Order: sequence, then C-alpha cells, then structure tokens
Amino acid sequence: MEERNFETDAIRTQSERTSFREHSVPLYLTSSFVFEDAEQARALFADEIPGNIYTRFSNPNNTELVQKLCLLEGTEDGIATASGMAAMYISMASLLKSGDHVLASRSVFGSTHQILNVIFPKVNISHTYADLADPSSWESKIQPNTKMIFVETPSNPALDIVDLEWLGKLANQYNLILNVDNCFATPYLQNPAKWGAHLVTHSATKFIDGQGRVIGGAVLGKKELIKEVRFFARHTGPSMSPFNAWVLSKSLETLAVRMDRHCQNALELANYLQSNQEVLKVKYPFLASHPQYELAKKQMKHGGGIVTFEIKGGIERGRKFLNALKMLSLSANLGDTRTVATHPASTTHSKLSDAERLAVGISPGLIRISVGLENMQDIMRDIDQAISNSAL
Ligand SMILES: *Cc1c(COP(=O)(O)O)cnc(C)c1O
Repeated sequence: MEERNFETDAIRTQSERTSFREHSVPLYLTSSFVFEDAEQARALFADEIPGNIYTRFSNPNNTELVQKLCLLEGTEDGIATASGMAAMYISMASLLKSGDHVLASRSVFGSTHQILNVIFPKVNISHTYADLADPSSWESKIQPNTKMIFVETPSNPALDIVDLEWLGKLANQYNLILNVDNCFATPYLQNPAKWGAHLVTHSATKFIDGQGRVIGGAVLGKKELIKEVRFFARHTGPSMSPFNAWVLSKSLETLAVRMDRHCQNALELANYLQSNQEVLKVKYPFLASHPQYELAKKQMKHGGGIVTFEIKGGIERGRKFLNALKMLSLSANLGDTRTVATHPASTTHSKLSDAERLAVGISPGLIRISVGLENMQDIMRDIDQAISNSAL
C-alpha cells in the first residue's frame, strides 16, 4: 500500500467498526471484556492471541489513539498514560534500576526536574544535567553507568534546541536509550524517532488535545523498550481513561490545521515583539535571531506555538504587564485554543532556585506566551495595550 500523508493518517486511523456501522468511533466505557470461553481466557492471558482483557491493560479507544500516534511519530509501538508526567515517569522508571545514571538536558519541564532531583535519588538513580546550547560538553558527562539520555527540544520555557541527529548518533555510540519529550513540537512539527530517538514521550494535554480539556500522555518507541514500559504500566496502573483517549484521538484529526495556525500566529507575534521598543529579548525557534535558527529549520516543520520575551523593567514590569492583560488568560497551561500568558519564575519553575532558573534561561522578567487560535488582531491588540499600560 502506498504511504498515506500525515493529515490522512490523523483522520483515517480508526478502530474496527461495530455492527452498528458507526462513522466515527464510539466510546468504550467498560472496565473489562468478556471471554468466549475458558480456552480464550487462557490464551489471552498467555499473550497467545491479541485482544482486550481489562481497561488498565488495554481498551479499543486507547489502542486507536496509540496506533495513530505511532503512525504520526514513525514509532513501532506505544502506550497511552493518564498524564504527561506519568509518561515521563514510566518511560524512565520502567527501564532504569538502582545504580543507573541519566544524562538530561538542564532545561526540562518542572516536574521532570522533581523526578530527577528528588524522586529518583531515593532509589539510587542519579543524573547529570547538560546544556542544550553547549553540545561539546555532553560526551564527557557520559558515565559507565549512564543508561539514558533525556531531552526536551524545544525546551520549556527557554526554547533551546538540540540537534537530534547528532544526539541520536551519540546515544547509539554509547548504547544509551535516547528519550525525547516531544510535547512542544508535537508529531506534526518534529519526529525524533526519524533522527534516532528510541523513545518519544508526550504530554497530550498540550497541543495534541489543543483545547484545554483533558490530561493525558504517551510513551512511543522501539518495540522491545515499549514491552518493558507496558509491563510496568500494566502492573502499576497509570493508564489513560478511555474517555480521554477518545477525546485525544478526535483532537489529532485537527492537529495539522491547528498547528499551522498556531505557528503562523506565533511567528507574527514574535516579529511584532521584536520591533517593539519596550521589549528586550524575543525568542522563537523560527526567528532568524534565534541562536539555533538553522538547526530549528532542519528538524522542525514550523517554529511551534510558544514565544518568550523579556519586557523592559524586570520583574515589576512583568507583573504589571500580566495584570494589564484583558483577554489573554493567566494560566499555567499551554497549547490551548486560548492565548495564555505565563510568568515561569513565579509559577511553573518556582520550585527551582534563582541560580537554577538562570541556568535554564529563566530570567526574572521572562514572559511565555502560548499563542492561541483567536483572531491575531485581537491577540496583538491585547498585548499591545498591556505593554503601553504597564509602563513604570
Ligand atoms: C506539560 C508538560 C509535561 C507534563 O504533562 P502533564 O500532562 O501536565 O502531566 C511534560 N513535559 C512538557 C514539556 C510539558 O509541557
């Protein structure tokens, strides 16, 4: 069969029709499935035949979502999880053991920091952070007990980028598992597996849902690794609810059109902010002023939906700016239809010390905008008036 394109896979991947011949997929809200007879029950439990047993293990809605995500990411297998953090946690905890070491990019999601800094040390799993912007330092940080490289690219909220092709080669050279949190890019903008990532992890809560309604995540990757992850998940229980899987599978149908508009709006906002006298620094992967612009162009389809900037006047002006916004939401979420403004230093990354924050590119006055799908003139008008009305 000829290979289908992204948009078609996102829409036409569907679990089997029932006898009702429904056009779109029903919701399978059932905790268990019945066996034809004792022999089928035995064979299902012995993994001799495929099929559903119990929704903590699998469910048609979850299977459909995972099959679709695998097609879109170019991965062999996967599992859907109750949240993005469940995905990050099980993708590491299922494959690591006491004594192992993780090499991670310094700039990772706040809760991923807590797993590495606080939770894993309790079971003697250690880590070292390396800087995305300084690839030359990575090789020397690999230890004899290093098992995994964990990165986010683009990173949150610094929007730094790492060369996935280079990292894939480094991981293979040292026989390490490369695990990429692809939440900011989504499978539409970037496919880490294509560059050598062994695991691709997602918070589906963000752009994959895209409408701020459900929490979810996924671990996708090589068959033999997912086998371990699935065993761990089946017996520890971080499975996604079928309802959320149903919502997210539906959300994926519009991912491409939504991301095209998110990215178009974000680039327009980045260009506007760059020309505003009251703004100091603007960061967006597809702005020519981004230090890794060429690399972004190489491995991403568009620049993503997140723009960060620093307003003149530091933390005080930043606070006044946020309070002056009339339409934009002040929220910790991102990847929503609604444009969201966040002050990372006092919210998402408040658990880090000032020094740790600076090391991951979070200055006191940094503002992160998740550019939504409202009319662009209305988004710009609100930001423009908030910049004017927050003058110190
Ligand atoms: C939000 C986010 C997560 C965590 O996902 P949840 O669905 O909130 O658990 C992980 N990584 C990144 C990059 C995120 O933005």
